[in-house]
Amino acid sequence: MKVKENLTVIQEQINSACVKVNRNLEDITIIAVTKYVSAERAIEAVDAGIKHLGENRDDGLLSKWNILGNRPIWHYIGSLQTRKVKNVIDKVSFIHSLDRHSLAKEINKRATGKIKCFVQVNVSGEESKHGIQPKDTLQFIKELQVYPNLLVVGLMTMAPLTDDEQLLRSCFRQLRTLRDEIKVMELPHAPCAELSMGMSNDYKIAIEEGATFIRIGTALVGE
Ligand SMILES: *Cc1c(COP(=O)(O)O)cnc(C)c1O
Repeated sequence: MKVKENLTVIQEQINSACVKVNRNLEDITIIAVTKYVSAERAIEAVDAGIKHLGENRDDGLLSKWNILGNRPIWHYIGSLQTRKVKNVIDKVSFIHSLDRHSLAKEINKRATGKIKCFVQVNVSGEESKHGIQPKDTLQFIKELQVYPNLLVVGLMTMAPLTDDEQLLRSCFRQLRTLRDEIKVMELPHAPCAELSMGMSNDYKIAIEEGATFIRIGTALVGE
């Protein structure tokens, strides 16, 4: 399938999810996750109108960045090793996987301007998932104020791989509730207005539960 055709289907789904819960389409940003596919396919996505691309490894990001440069806005979506920060820091606008102080410190040290970060939260409680525990999130975010190059724009989570709609909803809802609690505090370093949640198999539910950035790989560009 052409990316353009997949995108049309996804946009229809987004549209109906928005109608269902009375949200504005403009509040949802699609990130095309190109980690499984070639640079050619990433170019096809950009040509189809995709403005945001996401990668989860430094080498994948760099090889595509060398071709596409800053035509798309780049998101680093995977767990990020501290020693790899320097390879990606001047290429990406967003990092979705901030989950520890050592990483925050390194991002702050290497960044030449403000980097927009999502704090990754492990709401599902699965041991295999990265992210900090919901109960530790507020304290962690408060502590990030010592890093002037970090702007905490929101929270990110990965839901479990399941078709259990209630379970997915409850994960997304927990993240939203947590986001709301932090947002009302109006911390200057952490406006925390965004929710990065929803992938190929659960983005419709994520949108119904408030997602503002959805990260779609398989359903959009293929696997
Ligand atoms: C791979 C990946 C995605 C996209 O997954 P699909 O199921 O292919 O849509 C989204 N977010 C993260 C963090 C990923 O690693």
